[in-house]
Amino acid sequence: MGRRISVVGGDMRQVALAEGLIKDGFDASVFGFDLSIYENISPTLTEALSGSKTIILGITPCDEKMNISTPLWQGTLSATDLILNLSSDCVIIGGKLSPSFIALCEQKNIKCIDYINREDFAVLNALPTAEGAIYIAMRELEYTISSCKCLVTGFGRIGKILAKSLDSLGADVTCTARKCGDIARIKTSGYKAFYTDSLHEIVHDYDLIFNTIPSKVFDRKVLRNVRTDTFIIDLASKPGGVDFDYAIELGIKTEQALSLPGKIFPKTAGKIIKDTVINILNEM
Ligand code: NAP
Repeated sequence: MGRRISVVGGDMRQVALAEGLIKDGFDASVFGFDLSIYENISPTLTEALSGSKTIILGITPCDEKMNISTPLWQGTLSATDLILNLSSDCVIIGGKLSPSFIALCEQKNIKCIDYINREDFAVLNALPTAEGAIYIAMRELEYTISSCKCLVTGFGRIGKILAKSLDSLGADVTCTARKCGDIARIKTSGYKAFYTDSLHEIVHDYDLIFNTIPSKVFDRKVLRNVRTDTFIIDLASKPGGVDFDYAIELGIKTEQALSLPGKIFPKTAGKIIKDTVINILNEM
């Protein structure tokens, strides 16, 4: 693929991505933003796509009406119009591409690559997610993290980094996992360890709980044992790991904290997307 890359639509992560590409020597054009947002916005789609075979869209780039998501632009660009302007040797790269968008690209033989489930992207993205979760806790709590008994459910990419960050802040950290290998890893990292299926027996002991498990582990049985002065931050993607309606009924404070890298750290999130895109281009 050539050095010319078109960044189309999305939010400030995409601007940071374009800036990063330019710093790395690519010729990046940007379209789908109001001109006041960034100095290098192309005024027309034709100009933005000119000479480019690589088009980078944002995360969840296409809405139900099949328009490209452009929250920072007054205009509208339909996915059909975008695709009509591309030749079959173009490649579209984006995150969480919908089946209908992929089908549209396939009709014109345009290759689509989704980075959302790539390991390089998910591992790098875990850090701003963990840091964002701690930011939310600090924003909401009236006491320090260092004085908290913290529970992290799930010891995957986010769980590991979050536990380490909480520990370095001086918190008393417990993690849960379902595999004995992960229980061993939690113990050797210096945290207390429990199996996730014993949550109902241990949750009453914690001031602050971070869930990273994408399955409803905080069900009625578990929530009944959570203290009403505990704060639960659910990081797992929708539908999440907490029965929020029941938590409200019980008076437990919860927050479903989604898309934290993009919302809190758009520059870091954009750099992570840029690094991932470059990995994809190198693999091609
Ligand atoms: P991960 O590395 O796959 O870790 C998930 C953890 O949950 C693992 O410990 C896994 O255990 C455990 N788990 C999964 N299903 C389970 C179940 N049914 N019962 C018990 N344990 C289960 O994922 P991650 O990268 O840490 O991401 C965690 C979640 O956060 C995902 O939903 C992801 O989409 C989301 N996310 C959120 C944000 C945000 O801003 N809030 C940002 C990025 C990602 P095993 O290893 O045994 O499977």
